[in-house]
Amino acid sequence: MSTTMTQPSTILKQYFGYDEFRPMQEEIIQTVMAGRDSVVLMPTGGGKSICFQVPALAKEGLCVVVSPLIALMKDQVEGLVANGVPAAFLNSTQDDHDQMEVFDAVRREELKLLYVSPEKLLNSQFLGFLQGITLSLFAIDEAHCISSWGHDFRKEYTQLQVLKATFPQVPIIALTATADKLTRKDIVTQLGLHQPRQFVASFDRPNLSLTVLPGRKRVDAVIRFIQKRPNTSGIIYCLSRKGTEGLAESLQKAGIDAEPYHAGMSASKRSKVQQAFIQDRTPIICATIAFGMGIDKSNVRWVIHYNLPKNIEGYYQEIGRAGRDGLPSDTLLFYTFADVMKLRGFAEDSGQPQVQLTKLERMQNYAEALICRRKILLAYFGEHLAKDCGNCDVCKDPPQYVDGTILAQKALSAVYRLRETVGANTVIDVLRGSARKEVLEKGYDKIKTYGAGADISFGDWQQYLLQMLNAGLLEIAYDQGNALKLTPIGNEVLFKGRKVNLYRLADARKREKAQATQKPKSKRMLLIEALFEQLRELRLQLASQSGIPPYLVFNDATLQEMAAERPTNEALMKGISGVSEAKFRQYGHIFIEEIIRFILDQRAGGANIKGSTYVETFDLYRQGFTVSEMARKRSIHPSTIYGHLGTLYEQGYRVELSSFISQEELDAIHRAMSHTGSEKVSDLHEHLQGMVPFDKLRLGISYWKAGGG
Ligand code: ADP
Ligand code: ZN
Repeated sequence: MSTTMTQPSTILKQYFGYDEFRPMQEEIIQTVMAGRDSVVLMPTGGGKSICFQVPALAKEGLCVVVSPLIALMKDQVEGLVANGVPAAFLNSTQDDHDQMEVFDAVRREELKLLYVSPEKLLNSQFLGFLQGITLSLFAIDEAHCISSWGHDFRKEYTQLQVLKATFPQVPIIALTATADKLTRKDIVTQLGLHQPRQFVASFDRPNLSLTVLPGRKRVDAVIRFIQKRPNTSGIIYCLSRKGTEGLAESLQKAGIDAEPYHAGMSASKRSKVQQAFIQDRTPIICATIAFGMGIDKSNVRWVIHYNLPKNIEGYYQEIGRAGRDGLPSDTLLFYTFADVMKLRGFAEDSGQPQVQLTKLERMQNYAEALICRRKILLAYFGEHLAKDCGNCDVCKDPPQYVDGTILAQKALSAVYRLRETVGANTVIDVLRGSARKEVLEKGYDKIKTYGAGADISFGDWQQYLLQMLNAGLLEIAYDQGNALKLTPIGNEVLFKGRKVNLYRLADARKREKAQATQKPKSKRMLLIEALFEQLRELRLQLASQSGIPPYLVFNDATLQEMAAERPTNEALMKGISGVSEAKFRQYGHIFIEEIIRFILDQRAGGANIKGSTYVETFDLYRQGFTVSEMARKRSIHPSTIYGHLGTLYEQGYRVELSSFISQEELDAIHRAMSHTGSEKVSDLHEHLQGMVPFDKLRLGISYWKAGGG
């Protein structure tokens, strides 16, 4: 590895294939390069790794990355190696021999990055070993684990202060996706950071769409949702182990390839399921929250919450597993009363019922939101979104309010006449005039509002009651069997005719339908999709040949860009985001060939893709046909073929112009171009008094336009 300083942006392109830094990455990298400590708070998928990987490559010496997620280390290192970055890891999963090899590589100063578990690092022998090595930087991943305030406290992390004490000159970068102010403070003091710069990136993930649906007929809704997204990968979070198994079975029955995953399964079975998911062999996982922590799959296209999560932190982390590659991805949350009740029960039985219940209420507020959901989500993390997001269900289809006074009065009156002693379901039964045994036995059929709301379905009443709870007309007495009670506002509505606005449920239903119906796709979109699928197939083949997860070949964002741009030569392919030097060398030409084949197939089938006529000429040219043969084959004039060859050359295709035109002729054209200041064939033809024929002139002009190389 050369020790000359390379620009971070050059490294970004060369090793990662990316053209631009994301917000903050560049500043963070500059800080690290300047030798200063830093704390980085960025959401999952925000691009934290680049912040230490680029400096690691730019600086002399070894970057030591501390990570508690052993399962992730291997994936990350494989990803780096695939990009031509010398990296390795050390943890308890390796045998002595493997570890010795890594030590040797470190000693020979061959590595730029070394991932270690905290246990490994803190071993005094290992620290001694590091003292003999040139170190560029320490990166502490998942740094929130250091704080007992955080939700993922790890004792080993508290001993990391030894790093600053032992290596005062080596800068430290601490990174995390979840840290409130207290945790951040803890990170700084515990690691003994020296005047660190703190970077707090926005938690906004605009590529994730947000939708909440009532939990009616959930299984059908899930099936429809998945059928609308063929060949995509997703996670469905369920509350219980049984839930994951039941749902996976229902999906399988509907012909959808899905597997359950939960903590009750054996470790080996779990790791198998996870591996199959990462390698795109099992596209869909029905999981409890135990799933996802240790996986780094960038092409999860959607996340469904089959049940309500117990707090917003967890919810945000889980939906954050979708769309890490930055492509549009969907999230869907099902919201039911029954889940709220169940979660309340769990919260009450937990160590800190008050905290848990409050968190659950915030989660409910989100699910019941009638304003932009992203605003609510970000507000929870202390961020203010200036505009409505436009990518949540509420923004896309704002609720219509109607005068709901009469409807509310019916419900409130039922609650009142039932003496505020029964729960929502019984209230609804009474409103709908149910003949359920309990209703009749208790004489509820005698009260005045019995059957007054029979025209409204049970599910709709549930939604209306929910709205009334939110509007503060009703409250739930959790300590009295969840009985509904009137609030002072509810009293005003019932007895003083105070007006109430409710949002019309027809809108909610319309929204649900809109979810289910598809917009017709444009021809262009269909072409992109078809090529994307073809490239995905190819990727899967290449990945399984070498036993690596497909996203290590190229991630979805890169394939998507290829499908849209259709790069058919080296220069164009290298311009695609995510095509690094190493990846190009390994896969570039294979993908170029696939794209050329696609374009030619489409042409043969009558679809005229823009620019495909050039590709056809190029294909014939590289097969060795002469210009006149190509012209005959294609039934076009030879000058057109010359024109094509010139254009192809300009676009960076390998066309050997010297076989068509001599150096003397090229020089003459160059002189004529400088003399006339023109690139027009007619001008140059005149200037050269016809000495060079038109076809060669065209080629010569292309030659010099492309830089004359
Ligand atoms: P985090 O560790 O913050 O969860 P990662 O570092 O894994 O996120 O990055 C998430 C994804 O974004 C990865 O696929 C990564 O390659 C990609 N990425 C990071 N930086 C850029 C960039 N500047 N341009 C394009 N993609 C990027
Ligand atoms: Zn919104």
